[in-house]
Amino acid sequence: MVQVEPIKAFNDNYIWAICSQHEQQTWVVDPGQSQPVFTFLKAHNRTLSGILITHHHWDHTDGVAELLLQFPDIPVYGPKDSKFTGITHPLSHDDNVTIAGIAFKIVETPGHTLDHICYIDEQIAFTGDTLFSGGCGRLFEGTAKQMWHSLESLKQLPSACQIYCTHEYTLANLAFAQAVEPENQILSEHIAWCQQQREKDLPTLPTSMEIERAINPFLRTDQAKILAHLPVYLQEPSDLDWQILSKLRLWKDNF
Ligand SMILES: [Zn+2]
Repeated sequence: MVQVEPIKAFNDNYIWAICSQHEQQTWVVDPGQSQPVFTFLKAHNRTLSGILITHHHWDHTDGVAELLLQFPDIPVYGPKDSKFTGITHPLSHDDNVTIAGIAFKIVETPGHTLDHICYIDEQIAFTGDTLFSGGCGRLFEGTAKQMWHSLESLKQLPSACQIYCTHEYTLANLAFAQAVEPENQILSEHIAWCQQQREKDLPTLPTSMEIERAINPFLRTDQAKILAHLPVYLQEPSDLDWQILSKLRLWKDNF
């Protein structure tokens, strides 16, 4: 049995803690800060077993060095060829790695950054800044085509798969999603639920692949109606799904 707990960091990051019951293992995903992790470990009387990194950005990696001062021998898994140099166990596409009893497959998902990887299991996926609830990461290093391929591989996950991304961006993403698809009833219902969660200061995450396929415009580039409400400046014709994603991303960047 494994529990995944959110550790809040910065304004809207979650450092996910993977806690196994039997072996008392505790792993953290993308620790951009160390102090919230130390506080969590102390409160739960646990030690740190290892670290998973999805990509090199500072708000996902800046806590690693201080965590290693306290836990010097733990592994730091992360993408090969990363600009972040603290990775002890570099991972490539299709690698398998067992963390706290869960056999994750590594999926390379370039787009937000070129080094981005996701940790994928049939029931749990850590998607970093590639797939958010209702959105996707900004294209800082990769192309729209790369991001479309990355999201397409995540879209194949089972409906019940729980998606743990790194940011609480959901309400802002869903406001954009509603501009794209104002008639989407599942989206309206999900917005209401997320608003309730946030009013109680609770996460809107994890989300599920079933929900994301129904509400996330960046996973819905194959839907006939997805371009119906595009702003005028993006309205020249596009045939290919990655071109549609490119337009949605441009629209969202200026939303
Ligand atoms: Zn990032």
